[in-house]
Amino acid sequence: MSLVLRVDGNRWRAHLREIAAERPGLVPVIKGNGYGLGRGRLARKSQWLGADVIAVGTYDEIGDVASRCAADIVVLTPWRPWIALDDLDPDRVIHTVGRMEDVEALAASPGRPRVVLERLTSMRRHGLTARGLRAAASHVREHGGVRLEGVSVHLPLGDGGNLAEARELMTDVVAAGLGTTTVWVSHLSAGEVERLATAYPDLTFRPRVGTDLWLGDRGALRVTAQVLDVHPVERGERYGYRGRTLPRTGHLLVVSGGTAHGIGLEAPTGEGSARARVATLARGGLDALGLARSPYTVAGKARYFAEPPHMQSSMLFLPSGVEPPAVGDEVEVRVRFTATTFDGVETI
Ligand SMILES: *Cc1c(COP(=O)(O)O)cnc(C)c1O
Repeated sequence: MSLVLRVDGNRWRAHLREIAAERPGLVPVIKGNGYGLGRGRLARKSQWLGADVIAVGTYDEIGDVASRCAADIVVLTPWRPWIALDDLDPDRVIHTVGRMEDVEALAASPGRPRVVLERLTSMRRHGLTARGLRAAASHVREHGGVRLEGVSVHLPLGDGGNLAEARELMTDVVAAGLGTTTVWVSHLSAGEVERLATAYPDLTFRPRVGTDLWLGDRGALRVTAQVLDVHPVERGERYGYRGRTLPRTGHLLVVSGGTAHGIGLEAPTGEGSARARVATLARGGLDALGLARSPYTVAGKARYFAEPPHMQSSMLFLPSGVEPPAVGDEVEVRVRFTATTFDGVETI
C-alpha cells in the first residue's frame, strides 16, 4: 500500500550543488514535512552542502535537524514570550524577533540570545515597521542583552517583482543604524540579490531558499503509486462508498494514496472557465458526469477519480478501450510535495 517518492540521487545532489554555487550565503530552509523529503534528510544534505546556517519554520522542528548537522539554526516563526529559552542552545539557535516587547524581553533574559530583527514587508505577516526597527536598534545599542545577527526581510512570492520593495527596505535597514550588516532575505532571485549586493556593497545577503533548492529540479523526483485492484464495471453498475453509477463501461482501478497522504488536496487541473465547461459538456466528457480529474496518470493520461479519495487508497475510472494495468503495476502521481506524506522516500 505504497505511495513512494523516488529520488534520483546523483541528479538531485548535482542540482543542490548548482543552487548552492549560484546563491552565495545560502541558508537552506527545512520546515513542515521537509518538502516531502523529510526534515532529517534535508538537514544531512545541508551539512553535505557545507551550510553554516539552516532555517527551520518552528521551534518544534529544531529537535530532528539539530543532531543531523552542525549548522546554526534560525527559527523563521518569530519568538514569543511563551517560548522557553532554557532548552535551546543559546550559541546555536537564532531567534527571529518582530515586536518591540519581544526585543526587550529577550534583551532582559540571561545569556545574550542571538536575534535577527524582522522588518515588516508588504506580506504583512510579522515584523517591525521602519520606525519600530529604529526603536529596536536603539534599544539594542543602549541596553545590549542580545547578539544582533542581522535583519530579516520576507517578501511575497514575486516573479522577479520584489526588487523595488527590497530596495526601499534596505534604505530602512541602513537608516536604522543597526551595527549589523547582514540581511536575511526570502523570495528574491539570484539575480535580484546580486543587484541588491551591487547597490549596497556594505551589506551581506543571506538568501533563505526552500522550494527552489529541494524541489527545483522536478526531473530528479518521481512519485508512484501501486495498482491494488482492478475491476471491470458495466454501465449503470453500482460502486464506491456512495453507491454511484456511471453511464459508461470500463474499469475501476484501486490505487494506493488517499487523503491520509494528502491526495485530493492538490489544486484541480480541470479547465475552469465557463466556456471550457460548456465545451466539456458538449463533448460528454467524464467531468460532465461529475467526476474530478485525479493526479494519477494511467496509460499516458491523467485519469478521473471514480469517487472522492478514500483514506489510504483512491478509486479511478478507466474508460473502455483503455487496457487496464495489472495489480502491482506502478502508476505516476503528480503531487504537491509540501502537502504530501509519502509511505517511503527512496534514493536510487
Ligand atoms: C518558508 C519560508 C522560506 C522558504 O520558502 P520557499 O518558497 O520554500 O523557498 C523563506 N523564508 C521564510 C520566512 C519562510 O517562511
